[in-house]
Amino acid sequence: MYYNDNTTIFLDGKWLKATEATTDLYAQTLHYGSGVFEGIRSYETEEGTHVFKAREHYERLLYSAEKMHIKLDYSVDQLVALTYELLERNNLKDAYIRPLVYLGQNMSLQPTDKVHVLLCAWSWERYLGDKQLKLMTSSFHRPNPKSCFVEAKVVGHYTNSILATTEAKNKGFDEALLLDMHGNVAEGPGANFFYEKDDKLYTAPLGNILAGITRKTILELAEELEIEVVEKYFTPEEVYQADGAFFTGTAAEVAGVESLDGNKFNLKWEDTLGATLSAAYLNRVKKKEYKNFELV
Ligand code: PMP
Repeated sequence: MYYNDNTTIFLDGKWLKATEATTDLYAQTLHYGSGVFEGIRSYETEEGTHVFKAREHYERLLYSAEKMHIKLDYSVDQLVALTYELLERNNLKDAYIRPLVYLGQNMSLQPTDKVHVLLCAWSWERYLGDKQLKLMTSSFHRPNPKSCFVEAKVVGHYTNSILATTEAKNKGFDEALLLDMHGNVAEGPGANFFYEKDDKLYTAPLGNILAGITRKTILELAEELEIEVVEKYFTPEEVYQADGAFFTGTAAEVAGVESLDGNKFNLKWEDTLGATLSAAYLNRVKKKEYKNFELV
């Protein structure tokens, strides 16, 4: 699904066939989760393939690497250029791009100079699909910011996400909503969360969540569309009364939410601010907004 015999990847300065690339079974990242990564999307536009907010993603990758004491010898400009080359070599336009920085042999709990850089890409449907999601409040909390750098996108952090999603699916829900260490809503396992009440949107402030690039784009679009967004702490019980809600993330884009813990929201998805912002988001990433004033 992610690669075939023709897939080319970038690994440590070389272009290789994905089927021919190898890795080290003694790699520190494999044993301890000490790598960093990104998730980026490119879109086919009338002006050619466009990697959405490529610089922001690579700035976050460099930030994540620095926080994990990983020395990454690439600049944002280099990584952006390599990403366009990766897409071209694989003939991809609408794609999901996965940069992964992982560490080589080292079984101690200290950083190593053996730093590997992988760039790969594939076609990927919207991560959470197109139907409105039924969420459950997870029994797992997001990591306490005093236990790690929550704003860094670190491989090992995703064990928490996997536990939360698996628990939700096993209980018949589509996805989990995780709380922070104080019991306030933080975010989803791989996306930020917004809810709507009385024509205003609410989302958790930065501090206990990943600072999503899609979240920021939604804040920008909301301002342009004169939709008020309040960043504040809130409980699941407040969300039970919501008119609507949605997740935001690069892979998921804007994904409508139907209910939390069986409490259905008041409005039909089509009538929510989330639906308006979803259309605006797709127009922005596809660079359609100045040609197409209709929100589709
Ligand atoms: N929170 C978590 C935990 C995530 O994994 C992601 C996906 N990167 C997001 C939020 C959304 O971030 P972005 O919009 O930058 O993709």
